[in-house]
Amino acid sequence: MSSKILVLPGDGIGVEVADQAIRVIDKLNTLGLDATYEKDLVGGASYDANGEPLTSAVLEKAKQSDAILLGAVGGSQWDNVERSKRPEAGLLGLRKELELFANLRPALVFEALASASTLKDEVVSNLDIMIVRELTGGVYFGQPRGIEDTAEGKKAIDTQVYYDYEIDRIARVAFDLARKRNNKVTSVEKANVMETGVLWRQVVKETHEDFSDVQLENMLADNCAMQLVRNPKQFDVIVTDNLFGDLLSDCAAMLTGSLGMLPSASLGAENNGKRHGLFEPVHGSAPDIAGQDKANPIATILSLSMMLKYNLNQSELSDKVENAVQKVLSEGFRTGDIYTDENQTLVSCSKMGDLIIERI
Ligand code: NAD
Repeated sequence: MSSKILVLPGDGIGVEVADQAIRVIDKLNTLGLDATYEKDLVGGASYDANGEPLTSAVLEKAKQSDAILLGAVGGSQWDNVERSKRPEAGLLGLRKELELFANLRPALVFEALASASTLKDEVVSNLDIMIVRELTGGVYFGQPRGIEDTAEGKKAIDTQVYYDYEIDRIARVAFDLARKRNNKVTSVEKANVMETGVLWRQVVKETHEDFSDVQLENMLADNCAMQLVRNPKQFDVIVTDNLFGDLLSDCAAMLTGSLGMLPSASLGAENNGKRHGLFEPVHGSAPDIAGQDKANPIATILSLSMMLKYNLNQSELSDKVENAVQKVLSEGFRTGDIYTDENQTLVSCSKMGDLIIERI
């Protein structure tokens, strides 16, 4: 049965980069993919057309699809729209309604781009790690929270809360992923000073009993931050909570040098062997270069590659896409954001799409 992909290009460069990913789907369909796709509106584009950043009709289509590919949302023209109708509310609504609790952020350094990192080439060259961040629990959502007046002065409260089932389900995602990669999971918390860290470590250990073929190590979050910049290649999959994941995934992302290269996935719970998945580049709508055919489409094309691997069970086609990206970069083709010297060939967004498709 063919897979149904919902494409939500969104705003700004989201439209341009999603177009290139769609051309990649067309190419893969000639190589055995068997996917259909439908485009629809989200974010500012949806607000302009429908008065809502995410309509119930689009949400329903998202629920019915096998996977969603999103470009980016946002732009200053919607700055004065009320918060619940702003472009970002469309994206948050999708994550919430589809219960996408697992955020996957790979940090992948293609050899040809190792010099774009601020770290030494040998530290980052061929780096391939995956950060799995819990996205719907933890200190960003825990109650009580707020700022109140007390006799001693103003008092601010945030609360970190985790239930065992939330830890178990994110750990399962991490162990599953490790099996498709290099079979190692590093679970990161602060069990030395936090109760949620103690429970986290205990539940991950119990969940590991179902994945005893995968190597598990525990690491304190502060040490993990140090290890990420000291020797990032020691990691395969890192699984951690919402707050630590927020910090560590941005840190790992910057090992790779450019925002235009970073894909991501947000996954929901498994149901009858299937799970909801939203795949999108980490970057935003880049209004400064929108509509000029200058954007780097690689982050979106790599997000599609993650969809192939993790949601559509098409690892071989996913590898073909990654290899094509690697080849284009090693041949010296660059969009403006990753162009560093005159030995390279500066290309547009659509030309980068052409070059990758030719090499798939
Ligand atoms: P941004 O990621 O859009 O851009 C930051 C800088 O990186 C800009 O100079 C931009 O030109 C460059 N850049 C980003 N992606 C690029 C690409 N693929 N190719 C080449 N250059 C690229 O972040 P911003 O400027 O802070 O935000 C712009 C808008 O995007 C805002 O409305 C923001 O709310 C929104 N945003 C959306 C998302 C999302 O949809 N997930 C994420 C971040 C920001």
